[in-house]
Amino acid sequence: MEKKDPFVLRHLADVQPELWWLDSDPLEPAPHSALVGELGADLCIVGAGYTGLWTALLAKERNRERDVVVVEQYETGAGASGRNGGFCSASLTHGFYNGMRRFPDEMATIERLGRENLDEIEATIKRYGIECDFERTGELQVAVAPWQFEDMAELARLRNEMGDHVQVLGRDEVQERVHSPSYVGALYDPDGTALVDPARLVWGLERACLSLGVRIFENSKVLRLEDVQDAVRVHTPYGAVTAARVALGTNVFPSLIRKARKYIVPVYDYALVTEPLTPEQLASIGWSGREGISDSGNQFHYYRLTSDNSILWGGYDTIYNFRGKVRREYEFNAETYATLAHHFLVTFPQLKGIKFTHAWGGAIDTCTRFLPFWGMAMRGKVTYVLGYTGLGVAATRFGAATMLDLLDGVETERTDLEMVKKRPMPFPPEPFKWFFIRVTQAAIRSADAHEGKRNLWLKIIDFFGMGFDS
Ligand SMILES: Cc1cc2nc3c(=O)[nH]c(=O)nc-3n(C[C@H](O)[C@H](O)[C@H](O)COP(=O)(O)OP(=O)(O)OC[C@H]3O[C@@H](n4cnc5c(N)ncnc54)[C@H](O)[C@@H]3O)c2cc1C
Repeated sequence: MEKKDPFVLRHLADVQPELWWLDSDPLEPAPHSALVGELGADLCIVGAGYTGLWTALLAKERNRERDVVVVEQYETGAGASGRNGGFCSASLTHGFYNGMRRFPDEMATIERLGRENLDEIEATIKRYGIECDFERTGELQVAVAPWQFEDMAELARLRNEMGDHVQVLGRDEVQERVHSPSYVGALYDPDGTALVDPARLVWGLERACLSLGVRIFENSKVLRLEDVQDAVRVHTPYGAVTAARVALGTNVFPSLIRKARKYIVPVYDYALVTEPLTPEQLASIGWSGREGISDSGNQFHYYRLTSDNSILWGGYDTIYNFRGKVRREYEFNAETYATLAHHFLVTFPQLKGIKFTHAWGGAIDTCTRFLPFWGMAMRGKVTYVLGYTGLGVAATRFGAATMLDLLDGVETERTDLEMVKKRPMPFPPEPFKWFFIRVTQAAIRSADAHEGKRNLWLKIIDFFGMGFDS
């Protein structure tokens, strides 16, 4: 089946370029005013995605007296936090091997902190009554080629040694859970991933912040930070916040700290959502455990059921646009939708004829080590976390807690980690960056086509601790 096959394309005929999560949701909160005039605060947070809102919530939970202000350029959840796949995973390192390769000595600690982080997210959701369809379904990492299955037993052994609870499933066992002719086997992680409605999680965090007295301003793009003696002035078009401390949760958007920009590139990732499955369609694929699913190639898909039993299907193609701009026009990509629809029908041929109804894309803050890094500026008054590289739904809470540790000047298990102290290799400047990414993407495609064998280019960049992923 070719990706331009009219049979496949017919499944896309009724797609609306809209976020499924935002489809007239009654839980969407009322907008907030823009910042007008001058304000003082103990802590000013820039960006109202998960990073910004977790920072605000945790700051208030640590000290109720702290005066916290959040300033957002559009509206809460306008960035990746309102448009992701909703896989809320314990991994803080964009997968086990990525962390293990870079921080073998502290991986057991990182894995434990990741599990605790996910448990604390669940507890917070319960504590504040956040309605975000949180389901601790676990995750199936399916092998769709024999080479992807080969090292799963070793991966399971290593992960379980570090406190995870994963199991290897053979072909029949995985087919019992989810029926697809593509599956060869799987790694099943029963408690390391929960699924959420991502936009509802943002809105729930927003309500929790408001309930603790956090002030949120929307439509207030922060233009620059000014270092003023013991404080920082955060300038917006109609006003300014003068705050003792500033935390930046601006993700893939141009960082207000210029020197941080070289570490990040925006990479566009896309998702489709089907119409709700009929009971017969659902029965044809099983999936009664509702696990989140990802496949195991270097280029991978992620997919899940939504609350109304539609399937969200995303990933695989990751698009870097020359000079790395973040633009609304990049959020729709007909060619990638065709590729995704084609792969969907290969995985679930029993669903042929189903309609895709929603399609969108969003930018991922990719760094060369595929996991977050932290930085400070203005003599410790400003901190930032960036580089989640496509796995930030849960990791942002850890990112936020670490930012607060750094701003408060407290030593914790988190701030002791090499992972927190070290930075990734920066990307080279353009046009070398574009060339680096294109060559790496081609090498990754080639590795997937040749049983995972990494060519010389990938071996060289592995050696330097660099890479490219979504
Ligand atoms: C399509 C897609 C699917 C994904 N799927 C998953 C998934 O299933 N699981 C997972 O773990 N991760 C996933 N991710 C990644 C995850 O969504 C992100 O890592 C996470 O949302 C990052 O949160 P954040 O708060 O740091 O960034 P964002 O949500 O992008 O928030 C940053 C905010 O800062 C604001 N801002 C930026 N600059 C300024 C400024 N100068 N002034 C004021 N405000 C500013 C922005 O408007 C934005 O609201 C996905 C991402 C995408 C795009």
